[in-house]
Amino acid sequence: MKAFFLTEIGKTEVREIEVPKPKSGEVLLEVGMVGFCGGDLNGFKGLFPLQEYPNILGHEVGAKVVELGEEVPDSIQIGAKVTLYPYQNCGTCVACRKGRPNACKTNKTMGVRRPGAMTRYITTPWQDLFESKTLSLKELALVEPLTVGFHAVSRGKVEAQDRVAVMGCGIVGLGAVASALNRGAEVIAIDIDNSKLEIAKKIGVRHTINPSQEDLHERLQQITEGDGPDVIIEAVGSPTTYRSAVEEVAFLGRVVCIGYAKAPVEFNTSLFVQKEIEILGSRNCVGKIDFPEVIAYLEKGKFPVNEVISKVISIDQAPETMDAWAKNSQGIVKIMLDLEI
Ligand SMILES: [Zn+2]
Ligand SMILES: [Zn+2]
Repeated sequence: MKAFFLTEIGKTEVREIEVPKPKSGEVLLEVGMVGFCGGDLNGFKGLFPLQEYPNILGHEVGAKVVELGEEVPDSIQIGAKVTLYPYQNCGTCVACRKGRPNACKTNKTMGVRRPGAMTRYITTPWQDLFESKTLSLKELALVEPLTVGFHAVSRGKVEAQDRVAVMGCGIVGLGAVASALNRGAEVIAIDIDNSKLEIAKKIGVRHTINPSQEDLHERLQQITEGDGPDVIIEAVGSPTTYRSAVEEVAFLGRVVCIGYAKAPVEFNTSLFVQKEIEILGSRNCVGKIDFPEVIAYLEKGKFPVNEVISKVISIDQAPETMDAWAKNSQGIVKIMLDLEI
């Protein structure tokens, strides 16, 4: 069967591999849809230090269970439509010991430090599966990227009375937008790409700001009656957005950091003290909490699934798609690999 490999920085290839056999405690999945992650693009560009080469990419999966290994409980049935938790934690580091495996020191993500899902059949431990009876494989492939934004909103302890600004409306930022709205908060979506702001509006956001066309500070002040947002979620990873998150957040506010900044960022730390703000890192997601929450949210059918999927491609189109995406990512929210075409 075909598999899509990231072979080295800037190079991808479709190679032939063997269909795997499920070991004890594992299931065999027939993969239908896999999302391309921003992390895959960074791995391709050589900007992701954890990426191992060569490796099959892909960790955002919509699949069907087709075979059960030994010791798999009856709760897992052949034909079930599932997505999977793609992180593997060590169980012994300080983060694991404290019950926060998402921040494991030696986390191994599928497609990054072990083989990914961009192929027709993969095996995985049954404990990593999350099922939905109603979502399509395409929707199931959107669950994992959305969990990252949902986790950030949990880290920010967002409640209904909060005003939350989300900087960056890629799929992670849009997940944060959806989750904050789901908690009843007032959400302000910020991006320099108007098409992404339109998607945020479809999710239910009332206020959008495009800082390349309007004054971010003035608009935030106006929307929040001079207070600034209670929570700012940084989902871009640029020095400018990191600094403005700290500058714009309200006194006593929370800044949640999801974006990986590619370079060190300089801050006016007096603002940390003066405003008594909380700065919170947010990494990946907590499988047992965020996956069921996102699945339940998507099952309500209000998320604009087709709008966020910019393109659906076949495995043979994957190499050229990766090249084109690396050259121009403008307007692209999510590319999906369809393994059934
Ligand atoms: Zn991802
Ligand atoms: Zn660990």
